[in-house]
Amino acid sequence: MQIIASPKEMQKQAAAWRAQGLRIALVPTMGALHAGHEKLIAHGRGLADKLVASVFVNPAQFGPNEDFSSYPRRLREDAEKAEAMGADMVFAPTPDDMYPAGHATWVDSPELSTGLCGASRPGHFRGVCTVVLKLFMIIMPHAAVFGRKDWQQLAIIRRMAADFNLDIAIEGHPIVREADGLALSSRNAYLNPEERAVAPHIHAGLALAREAAQKGERDASRIISDVSAYFTRHMPGCDIDYISIVHPENLKPLQNLDGAALMACAVRLGKPRLIDNILLLDQ
Ligand code: AMP
Repeated sequence: MQIIASPKEMQKQAAAWRAQGLRIALVPTMGALHAGHEKLIAHGRGLADKLVASVFVNPAQFGPNEDFSSYPRRLREDAEKAEAMGADMVFAPTPDDMYPAGHATWVDSPELSTGLCGASRPGHFRGVCTVVLKLFMIIMPHAAVFGRKDWQQLAIIRRMAADFNLDIAIEGHPIVREADGLALSSRNAYLNPEERAVAPHIHAGLALAREAAQKGERDASRIISDVSAYFTRHMPGCDIDYISIVHPENLKPLQNLDGAALMACAVRLGKPRLIDNILLLDQ
């Protein structure tokens, strides 16, 4: 498996592929690859001739008290996995490659970035938008695949792609879950056995909310307080960062469910902060 670290070298490779008329798909990751990433890579594989997986723990999207330094880094293992998953190339730059001295330009989408995860992670999506736009300029993909687990991220990238007239198809892949419902995440490795045992209640609580909405419940605050009570009852000691019901595209909070509605949450369970979401009503 070829690993490229240099943005210039990657750009040259991408330009050569394009000159041959080949289509490129990108799956951006922070590494510690798991079966969720595998599904994204398989999806991207079907969209293009060349599949590039990027592996970059982006310092710009971590807050000062977040897990940037402890985030799992195992590039060699990830490169082997990426190859087995069907990637043609891994782009794995260093922070200095991506943010050389003097870097001073940032991309932000404040209207979509201040709620949900953005409320407790100020600056996070500015870091995400900036690095994703840089990856787009370096890898020049025709398509890029993102997971719906990070729904807010996907909505922001879609917005950015539309606002900047990017000629890149942004694909959202459904959430990949463990058999017990827990959404796969590199951060699940931080859960101790007791926390891991109760963690599926995050998805179970959201599924109850969907059931209530599908049965006709329209009051968002009632659904939210029921899910909050469920989490507290089944995951004692969990710290709920937020449980929100928003419009799936503009991410504005909804009081009443009278059309498409997304419930999203972030819950700290011991060390890791886990996120999940579910569409309550599709339209
Ligand atoms: P990460 O390495 O955690 O930054 O994730 C890289 C990409 O994989 C992002 O687009 C995530 O949304 C996506 N992803 C991570 N976990 C899952 C999952 N369980 N299901 C679907 N997509 C996922």
